[in-house]
Amino acid sequence: GEHAAGENTAEIPPRTVLGRLPKYAAGKPPVAVEGLQAYKLSSNENPLPPIPAVLAAVHGRTDIMRYPDPLCTALRTELASFLDVPAEDIVTGAGSLGALTQILQTFAGQREDGTEDEVIYPWRSFEAYPIVVGLSGARSVQVPNRPDGTHDLEAMAAAVTDRTRVILLCTPNNPTGPALTGAQVEGFLAKVPRDVVVVIDEAYTEFVRDPEVVDGISMYRKHPNVVVLRTFSKAHGLAGLRVGYSVSRPAITQYLRVAATPFAVSSLAEQAAITSLRHYDQVLERVQSLVDERERVVAGLRELGWEFPETQGNFVWLPLGARAEEFAEFAGRQALSVRAFAGEGVRVSIGEVEANSRFLELCAAYVQART
Ligand code: PMP
Repeated sequence: GEHAAGENTAEIPPRTVLGRLPKYAAGKPPVAVEGLQAYKLSSNENPLPPIPAVLAAVHGRTDIMRYPDPLCTALRTELASFLDVPAEDIVTGAGSLGALTQILQTFAGQREDGTEDEVIYPWRSFEAYPIVVGLSGARSVQVPNRPDGTHDLEAMAAAVTDRTRVILLCTPNNPTGPALTGAQVEGFLAKVPRDVVVVIDEAYTEFVRDPEVVDGISMYRKHPNVVVLRTFSKAHGLAGLRVGYSVSRPAITQYLRVAATPFAVSSLAEQAAITSLRHYDQVLERVQSLVDERERVVAGLRELGWEFPETQGNFVWLPLGARAEEFAEFAGRQALSVRAFAGEGVRVSIGEVEANSRFLELCAAYVQART
């Protein structure tokens, strides 16, 4: 509708940090193409429909006029036995992004004297990192990945200053794909001051098949400055419900609770997450089918001669550099939406079998068109 004429149009200035935040470019839905089923491969979602028991658990709930349990006790209790950790060590959030926001708000920001804390993270990595770090008031220190898409842990350790409060590790790394080994993370933690919080973002952990890859939970058991981030958005396929969590020792958790957003997790999300954990065999079956598809896609791409980083997530990274956007448009004409990072590469999620096959076909056609 129209705004009232002659209203006060004075500038309403936001915090200055807003002017420095990058825009979050969410994965776009595919554009319809005549005669082709369209597929979204641009948000690393689980393409499979909800598990029937999970759908049944949220369907027809009659108590949604009531607030959820602010402490999410039932879900934390379920997770505690699932992970074999104390329930007090778990803090839930609106997605793992909600949990990460709580961690940053708790440990990093602007100091009383107006100077900024520093948060170190690899780049390129999850696009939301610069936004949530910037909003916390802290300064982002981005450390470039190595050419093979892995974190440069030596450079990250060297970037630590007396202003560093939080370090983010992303394993498997979105969007490049590789994961960190347990030995690499141990070596890194040994170099980091013990009053710096090290977040291990394991959003894609269920898709990992390399046995050397770090298990954040075993790191948290040994290191009181580690926080593990996990989510129901990917393997569990509950991205639309927004539920994730962090696991850390009381040295950290006691403060996270103070900063936690009250009622961040809805009652429906909590119930769905509990039900999904109780049907974990079905979750794992579905994850395995996606891992099989990932392996088919990886093999197909290699056969075509594509070079790209090893992936342990539900996505592949094509380091196309200046051709990233051209490739994404090419995919769009075949009704596939993929995620282009201009000048760097394209991230393609593993989707439905037919979507993955079409992706491989289009990669073959793209190579042909260029040679
Ligand atoms: N971490 C990483 C590495 C991600 O890729 C994502 C989702 N793209 C998230 C966290 C956030 O997921 P959610 O908030 O849905 O748990």
